[in-house]
Amino acid sequence: MICLGIEGTAHTISIGIVEKVNNRCNILANISKMYKPEKGGIHPREAANHHVKFFPKVLRESIEKSEVNINDIDLVSFSIGPGLGPCLRTAATAARTLALSLKKPIVGVNHCIAHLEIGRALTKCEDPVLLYVSGGNTQVIAFMEGKYRVFGETLDIGIGNCLDKFGREIGLPFPSGPHIEKLAKKGKKYISLPYSVKGMDVAFSGILTACLHLLKKEKIEDICYSLQETCFCMLAEVAERAMAHTEKEEILLGGGVACNKRLQEIIRKMANERKAKFYCPPNEYLVDNGAMIAWTGLLMHESGIRMKLEETKVRQNYRTDEVEIKWR
Ligand code: AMP
Ligand code: MG
Repeated sequence: MICLGIEGTAHTISIGIVEKVNNRCNILANISKMYKPEKGGIHPREAANHHVKFFPKVLRESIEKSEVNINDIDLVSFSIGPGLGPCLRTAATAARTLALSLKKPIVGVNHCIAHLEIGRALTKCEDPVLLYVSGGNTQVIAFMEGKYRVFGETLDIGIGNCLDKFGREIGLPFPSGPHIEKLAKKGKKYISLPYSVKGMDVAFSGILTACLHLLKKEKIEDICYSLQETCFCMLAEVAERAMAHTEKEEILLGGGVACNKRLQEIIRKMANERKAKFYCPPNEYLVDNGAMIAWTGLLMHESGIRMKLEETKVRQNYRTDEVEIKWR
């Protein structure tokens, strides 16, 4: 079975084409185009316009790369939520149009679960705790009693959003995470910041405000270093607590912030100390990507899940534990 998956929850429009061979995920294509606002944060309608503009190109390139005849696609999947309304509706409309014109079934995929499933497919982990750290989302997710459940999450903004907002204030381009990572490497002094962990939840807006207050007093490299150390240690703490609570012995990373080498190092150390295994897929599949939507759609379809066109309405606040899991 070959599935074409469309990702479009936020800044990235991406199409992945995957097939299942010998029970394994074979990615035939994964083509992405990211919207980068000239100034300020993501404007949902502008991001959606970007996706409309680039969809045909991304589709053409993904078909070419996969070397699949478009008529040989068996299934169309798309990111149904959670995400920004205008972006979700653009991806959903494109998916419906494609499914109708190809006369193929369509399935809507939960974006957060797709991050976990692509990690399971591309690494050797089986039943991990996922630390999902992206622009808009920060969650600790694991499979328990028939569902993917959120054990911890941010109480305010996503970790990526925190980094991007700080970056914007100091004049870094969007997305700022990679630039902050570079600056943090040169930092030497740890400046104490509000460490905000409540059970398995975290909060970042207080840290962001504190960092902005430091701008006149401290070196930017030291602030970036302290920002990363504080946020990443908080994430390690809640991920570890979720592992202890669920008695799982694998930790998997997902989301764009997981590209950060220092975060990877901290989480790997935590895993080693508790004799657990650490897994991290390649960067291309950490950030938002069509392949994860295609793969999860394929798993859903194979497990018997079907959606009528009327059921493909987008769900901006789609919760991870609302999803019916038939494939595990
Ligand atoms: P996503 O929403 O999962 O596509 O991830 C996008 C987020 O990842 C943005 O907030 C970026 O700033 C962040 N990001 C990407 N690379 C890095 C990095 N090396 N370090 C920290 N954050 C990063
Ligand atoms: Mg994401």
